[in-house]
Amino acid sequence: MERVRDVRELPKAHLHLHFTGSMRPSTLLELADKYGVRLPDALTGGHPPNLRATDERGWFRFQRLYDMARSCLREPEDIQRLVREAAQEDIRDGSGWLEIQVDPTSYAPRLGGLIPALEIILDAVESASRETGLGMRVLVAANRMKHPLDARTLARLAVRYADRGVVGFGLSNDERRGMARDFDRAFAIARDGGLLAAPHGGELTGPASVRDCLDDLHARRIGHGVRAAEDPRLLKRLAERGVTCEVCPASNVALGVYEKPEDVPLRTLYDAGVPMALGADDPLLFGSRLAAQYEIARQHHGFDDAELAELARQSVRGSAAPAEVQEKLLAGVDEWLAAG
Ligand SMILES: [Zn+2]
Repeated sequence: MERVRDVRELPKAHLHLHFTGSMRPSTLLELADKYGVRLPDALTGGHPPNLRATDERGWFRFQRLYDMARSCLREPEDIQRLVREAAQEDIRDGSGWLEIQVDPTSYAPRLGGLIPALEIILDAVESASRETGLGMRVLVAANRMKHPLDARTLARLAVRYADRGVVGFGLSNDERRGMARDFDRAFAIARDGGLLAAPHGGELTGPASVRDCLDDLHARRIGHGVRAAEDPRLLKRLAERGVTCEVCPASNVALGVYEKPEDVPLRTLYDAGVPMALGADDPLLFGSRLAAQYEIARQHHGFDDAELAELARQSVRGSAAPAEVQEKLLAGVDEWLAAG
């Protein structure tokens, strides 16, 4: 009988993971204890909280929980621990390359300002990478609930740290607020500075938000992008341009974007030739990490091992990893498949 290949051993790149959201639940409990923060039951129950972000109240609740968790990260050593553990968890799940996403603005008040916050984060990423051997880089993400001028400031900062580990520029939070084009200048600054444009789109709102990311922000990758499945012409465009969608199935189900894992349109995107990079988004709140996303593709969408290997290749090719890292990971994918 053929051995069932372990998806944790499949080399892959992880391109959609938020900073606080990457925290181990046990670490959150310890940090809350350290600082005397009383966490809401939703964060202490040992199982993911019940969230529905398809209306603004649900999204607000999700953001509040996220903010609570973030308030437990106060000192550089907390940041170092978070990043080191995120790297360890990723390695356990077969990741050979991690791009972690952060809005340093949120950490600035406790870490001495925007620049010190970003430096502490980049230092933590560099040392975690050195200690664990996992290649890691950072996407600086602006918050679309804030003023576009703040995004420009962040984009300039991100560009300034391009040689210290920042590889991309993102845009997160509620897609229903503001227009992508309000942030076009910020993205122009980021792109001119050599950063990859990777805004969120097509999660809480439909295909139009993905088109806006392409037209107005010249996105090379889309955070989520799953709702593009509703528009065949858009799928064709994403496929032709090779724009990678950072698809996060467990997150989509947890936030009510889709009812069930089998409703996430993995097949539609895959069959249309849209490159995907499966990601965990916020494992702290959604209860599953990287390998589990591949498991969803296998269990709920019937991806066989050759197709899972192809998904892993797509994640690697969509990454900002240097060519030699990509080649090594791609060779590892072939080995995984050959060893069946
Ligand atoms: Zn996200």
